[in-house]
Amino acid sequence: MKLNTYNESLFSFLATSPSPYHAVANMKRVLLAHGFTLLAETAPWQLEPGRGYVVTRDGAALVAFILGNNETVGDGFRMAAAHTDSPSLKLKPRPEYRNGAFRQLGVEVYGGALLAPWFDRSLSLAGRVTCRLADGALGVYLIDFARPLLVLPNLAIHLDREANKSATLNQQQHLPPILGLHEEGAEDDFAHLLLEQLAKEHPGTDFNEILAFDLFCYDHQPPLTCGGRSELISAPRLDNLLSCHAGLMALEAAGHDKNTLLFCANHEEIGSTSTSGANGSLLEAILERLLPEAEARRIALRRSFLVSADNAHATHPNHADKADPRHEIHLNRGPVIKYNASQRYATEAPSAAVIKAVCHEAGITPQEFVMRSDLPCGSTIGPMTAARLGTMTVDIGAATLAMHSIREVTGSRDPYLLFSTLCRFFASDLHKTLVFADQ
Ligand code: ZN
Repeated sequence: MKLNTYNESLFSFLATSPSPYHAVANMKRVLLAHGFTLLAETAPWQLEPGRGYVVTRDGAALVAFILGNNETVGDGFRMAAAHTDSPSLKLKPRPEYRNGAFRQLGVEVYGGALLAPWFDRSLSLAGRVTCRLADGALGVYLIDFARPLLVLPNLAIHLDREANKSATLNQQQHLPPILGLHEEGAEDDFAHLLLEQLAKEHPGTDFNEILAFDLFCYDHQPPLTCGGRSELISAPRLDNLLSCHAGLMALEAAGHDKNTLLFCANHEEIGSTSTSGANGSLLEAILERLLPEAEARRIALRRSFLVSADNAHATHPNHADKADPRHEIHLNRGPVIKYNASQRYATEAPSAAVIKAVCHEAGITPQEFVMRSDLPCGSTIGPMTAARLGTMTVDIGAATLAMHSIREVTGSRDPYLLFSTLCRFFASDLHKTLVFADQ
């Protein structure tokens, strides 16, 4: 696949995946179109070698795998992992309220969002709604307004002269976006707005009543290339849909000879402990069904290798003092291997060696990230997945600026370089060649 085609596919995925549920639905659709078979966790499975399978849980996490023709399940898997969620503003259960002349929606902050960039944007709303249908059945439906629906205006500088020095933000008071103006005589009813949108997106379904929803605000502006030579990408949710997409494309391109697996988990931004999070049971439950016998499964997991892909901090030109001067990270210079002595990243020398050798085979030179020693380090799903499975793991990611902002920046070649690395990894036996000489 060429770079331009790849980025077009990424932009389309980002634009049509405003919530984890949309991301999973899109990934599932792509895989089914490429011959993968959908498996339900609620039914027994009949699996055949040489075929690909997809499992989703709660509509928010996905495991897809290929059982290689030339391997048994006991030989283990080449696994890639990423997360489907991004920091956002999530609607409260009873969001709508009237505030003077305005209609507003109450929100909670989801994950470690950088809040200032949410102001003065065209915001839309997407997620899922649970409904009672006319026949009494309950249903879960995706919804995406896909139009500028909300706005969160800043306070004018004249009313806060200190705003450029030390803006203070109260999350309860200052974050509710404006849905519009109250009209005398008109009924303000957010549920009615949802029902109208549901009817538009799901014609033919007889919706009776909204019961609950998981709805997130998002930046309506689509992903863009920018820079004098179009060498940069500015887009929402690069962390971590960029990696979900790279894993998806790599799995789609993988042959059917080797065992490969993609795990896209929800709830990473809020700690991963949930039914669809990486600190939940999903991946282990699936591996248990592939290999029910405990000893054989333990052997297979130790024969496996996991590449945990999540974005890495590029060195910011205006804040170079925040980066370790001997581990500067540049855009468009290749995937970043992430290290942390306290295991906030799972990478250690053996797993770093495997991914460096994979990159070498792909003709890619990886970069190496470590935090400044006087700053705390973030984390991702790599360490907890490694701990749960007992599988050797490396944490890598595409270089990114403005991580957790409503829009993030990466290099125009960075997503493709991550994809190329994962393609090579899925075709590789390098992890099997690792010898612990003195152990
Ligand atoms: Zn992330």
